[in-house]
Amino acid sequence: MRRSYVTVFGSLLILSFVLVPPLQSADDLQAGAGRRSIVPPTPTPMGGFNDRKAMFEGVHDEVFARALVLDNGDTQLVIIGSDLMALDSGLTAKIRNRIEEKTKIPAAHVMVSCAHNHSAPSLYQLSEQERAQSPVEQFFVEQFSGAAIDAWKARQPARLGFHAGELLGMTRNRQQENDLIDPQVGVVLVQKRDSRDTIATLFNFTGHPVILGSNNMLLSGEYPGAACQAVENLLGGIALFTQGAAGDVTVHRSGDPFEEIERVGRTVAAEVIKSAGFIKGNTSVSLSAALTSVELPARPIPSVKEAQQQVDRLNALIAGAEARNLPAAAIRRLKKQLPIHSINLMVAQKRANGEAKPPETQQADVQVMQIGDVVLASIPGEIFVEYALELRSRIAQDVDKSFCLVGYANGYIGYIVTPRAQQTGGYEASVARVAPEAGRVLVETAVQLVHSLPD
Ligand SMILES: [Zn+2]
Repeated sequence: MRRSYVTVFGSLLILSFVLVPPLQSADDLQAGAGRRSIVPPTPTPMGGFNDRKAMFEGVHDEVFARALVLDNGDTQLVIIGSDLMALDSGLTAKIRNRIEEKTKIPAAHVMVSCAHNHSAPSLYQLSEQERAQSPVEQFFVEQFSGAAIDAWKARQPARLGFHAGELLGMTRNRQQENDLIDPQVGVVLVQKRDSRDTIATLFNFTGHPVILGSNNMLLSGEYPGAACQAVENLLGGIALFTQGAAGDVTVHRSGDPFEEIERVGRTVAAEVIKSAGFIKGNTSVSLSAALTSVELPARPIPSVKEAQQQVDRLNALIAGAEARNLPAAAIRRLKKQLPIHSINLMVAQKRANGEAKPPETQQADVQVMQIGDVVLASIPGEIFVEYALELRSRIAQDVDKSFCLVGYANGYIGYIVTPRAQQTGGYEASVARVAPEAGRVLVETAVQLVHSLPD
């Protein structure tokens, strides 16, 4: 059939008129979700346990990077929940750059978080040279940014709401005798606007994923992976887990580890699913984000002489307490202080010999995101739980919002203990890289950032 140019031109005009979407108004939420496997294509060590150096031997259950993109026409946010143990700031920057390149969403609006899963592939066990040669770093950049770009492309009209559930009895404080935990299960449910089918369920819970121990050589999403799978099975869409302030919080477990990750994951999922049932969701959702970087003092290391004196003094105290048959709890409290001083001595000796040069400061990103009724604040490490509880009550008082702390996000600076834990000792304080005042700096920075967000 022959057509005149005029007809073709005319139909093009009509087509372009039909295809140009109407301008989005600020109360018109769009959302999309994406998921990419992060099982490395080449042999890679596993993260989290220093005594485990070998490469993973197989896959028990697949590990993923999952992404949620929210867009209200004015502001776009990306949240990535991954099954990794931790991710450093250099890799975070590469992931953000690639997302920005493809979607124009700025770095400050992208949160890259890790579940702190100790059964995930990890680049931390590699030397600098091994890491430079490994293709896995580039693979992570591809897969993390790919999940976000997939989510961006898949966005569609949506509704969103938040509900805070609570799960008691599943976790315990492994460090403090007051047994402080964060029982909140924070849930952001994102549904298709009209059908209410699930696009994504973003949830936050607090507890170390260390059910599978250092003798496990199979990749697994651990209890967070099992929880995501159970939520996806029942609600559909993509479920993203973010880890809370798990510095001193772990999960109760007993029995076969692979059965335990299912049991714990299923129980967390049950609370997520229950909470989702309370969420009605809005199509008009305010979104905002802010990011800043702070310089934190490194943990002070004494001189070799001072460190030796501290170890000797403590050993004498322990021997004296044992000789006098003091109560077991008193002896335990003294022994708990020993690791800090032994490690201080080791680091002091290495420094004196020129074998190690511990940095004097650590850079840390603090990021906040406001999504409707909830504020997320991310911290790049293992922060003690009482800081998250303090932030929750201050943010409720100051801006009348719910709160989730996202740990292990946008970098990794190790443990962030309380000054009290630094005094009483224990594992976390003994390996902390930042000074005990770091937690206070991070909390006050997060509060300031929340205050800086538009109303
Ligand atoms: Zn940890």
